[in-house]
Amino acid sequence: MGKEAFVTLATNDTYCRSAIVLAQSLRNCCTQKEITILITPQVSPEARAMLDKFFDQIFCVNVLDSKDAANLALLKRPELGITFTKLHCWNLTQYNKCVFMDADTMVLTNIDELFDHQELSAAPDAGWPDMFNSGVFVYEPSYETYMALIQLAEEEGSFDGGDQGLLNTYFNQWRTSDERKRLSFLYNMHSTSTYTYSPAFARFGKDTKVVHFLGQVKPWHHKYSAETDSIQQMDGPGIHEQAFLLQWWRQLTQAMKQFQD
Ligand code: UDP
Ligand code: MN
Repeated sequence: MGKEAFVTLATNDTYCRSAIVLAQSLRNCCTQKEITILITPQVSPEARAMLDKFFDQIFCVNVLDSKDAANLALLKRPELGITFTKLHCWNLTQYNKCVFMDADTMVLTNIDELFDHQELSAAPDAGWPDMFNSGVFVYEPSYETYMALIQLAEEEGSFDGGDQGLLNTYFNQWRTSDERKRLSFLYNMHSTSTYTYSPAFARFGKDTKVVHFLGQVKPWHHKYSAETDSIQQMDGPGIHEQAFLLQWWRQLTQAMKQFQD
């Protein structure tokens, strides 16, 4: 078995904090895999020092300086900047297999079994279930795949302007592929599903493995009181989503405490 890692991405200090919660949650669930992060030069030295404590490897990527072909393509399509940054995960060829996870995801149980799946395995997107959500996916690093993705981005762009559109165009066999590549929604449970389809959440929610706080409102936009261990901003999230938000804040508090000790 080759080297394997969970991989995330943070282009600024805010997402670094969220990435730390993800790493903490993976460790709390006793992962046996490495935990790796891609960052960009915008991340402050202070945030980087914190990441050092929670991640096995930190890779600083600079889209504009990285690879000539990518650089040229980016100059033609500057709007794809963040998208290109996520694609860098295919360059981590020191690993045989990786699981990419958005920094706004949090693990509730050990999910190391995901490494038994092949590229490209992912769960459906709740907004358009014929597509996969690109917040959690199993992939195999390869410079050739990276270059092919860059080329596709340059030639066709991304129909949604982000990485999800591009990746779904490239891995367009996903919907009709082997069922092992179509991961259960429990591996990428959109936190909003707790109230958009609350009966399903009541029935299946207890088996959730990964919560994804996707959308504009992120856990850090809510106020948390460590004194009373409660989320203060009650409007908006439903009661179940609040339980996940609490768990997110508790793990952030735990991580910060560990960092200070
Ligand atoms: N991201 C980042 N900086 C940004 C925006 C996004 O590092 O300014 C990374 C981060 O890992 C994040 C992922 O890209 O989780 C995808 O963005 P986001 O989760 O905000 O999108 P959503 O899941 O809500 O569509
Ligand atoms: Mn996300």
